[in-house]
Amino acid sequence: MSRFLSSKFAALEPYTPGEQPKTQVLTKLNTNESPFPPMPEVIEAVSKAAELLQLYPDPDCTELRKVIARVYDVDTDEIICSNGSDETLYFAFMAYCDSGKPAVFPQLTYGFYPVFADITGISFREIPLKEDFSIDPADYYDAEGTIFIANPNAPTGVPLSRAQIEDILKHNPDNVVVIDEAYVDFGTESAVPLVKKYDNLLVIQTYSKARSMAGMRLGYGIGSKEIISDLNALRFSTNPYNIDRLAIAAGIASLENDEVNKAHCRTVMETREYTVRELKAFGFEMTDSTANFIFVRHPEVRGDVLFHKLRERGVIIRHWDKPELIDYNRITIGSKEQMDILLKEVREVLKEESK
Ligand code: PMP
Repeated sequence: MSRFLSSKFAALEPYTPGEQPKTQVLTKLNTNESPFPPMPEVIEAVSKAAELLQLYPDPDCTELRKVIARVYDVDTDEIICSNGSDETLYFAFMAYCDSGKPAVFPQLTYGFYPVFADITGISFREIPLKEDFSIDPADYYDAEGTIFIANPNAPTGVPLSRAQIEDILKHNPDNVVVIDEAYVDFGTESAVPLVKKYDNLLVIQTYSKARSMAGMRLGYGIGSKEIISDLNALRFSTNPYNIDRLAIAAGIASLENDEVNKAHCRTVMETREYTVRELKAFGFEMTDSTANFIFVRHPEVRGDVLFHKLRERGVIIRHWDKPELIDYNRITIGSKEQMDILLKEVREVLKEESK
């Protein structure tokens, strides 16, 4: 820290992203990326868009929002595009939380939420999960704050149904409810159809997971016109050209061929079921995940031990250095080939540890 940093940031504990290794040799199952490369139509659209990089991009992302609107059956002014969905989340923390409106979210959830709260200078209230890692909607009734729920939740992968989200919305008519659907496309019901009915709902989605574009940084929020206008006011006050030309082109091309993304998601879901079966046969316990990752523990091997041993063997999964998560790891569902490498190495580690 330099001696010039504002004292308001002195205690900031930044979000720690999962490791991005510098070599390709590792089996990378730690940051929930897609095992599929971007489709050829996306690559072609990006190279075409690159021919005009001397010009600023459209700050309204009009063409991209039109395609998103068509796919989700909403109006274009019910959509905001952002640099990754993290950016829309940040706008929502800035827009809807203050001293009288803390952020309210599950105790175990996306690690960025407390960081957003800290940098925005607002307090937050964490609500414990149930024993089985599920969220009880009743815990969020009359929340007296702005609610942030990842659905399915991360890192547990446990979903709420649309009816449960609606229950939370109905019991919070004066609070904004933000549903972070980063992992929705792997078997969870989306809350987008509720946007027309509830003016307190903001749904956030991303191209990073289901659409093989984590490297492009493209996300979007869907909510009432009024909510989107609030968020746009913050966007135009910070970074009006937050989506570059390449991302706009890639986003349009990807959604115009969305059946390919959907087929990829189905493959990931099948691979998830295969991995779950195999790991359970090794004695692993896990939540019923509807995400592109699983949250696992083994009764005989500590999570940090498994993490380090797999790392030595070239397989990276995600572990958190927190006492309450010491037993657990989160494993991204990659290709069947990647999962077979994982399973082979896990089997070796278990053999070693049982000696
Ligand atoms: N929400 C959740 C729950 C996530 O895990 C992530 C990915 N780290 C994000 C949002 C942000 O994703 P992106 O910014 O890549 O859209």
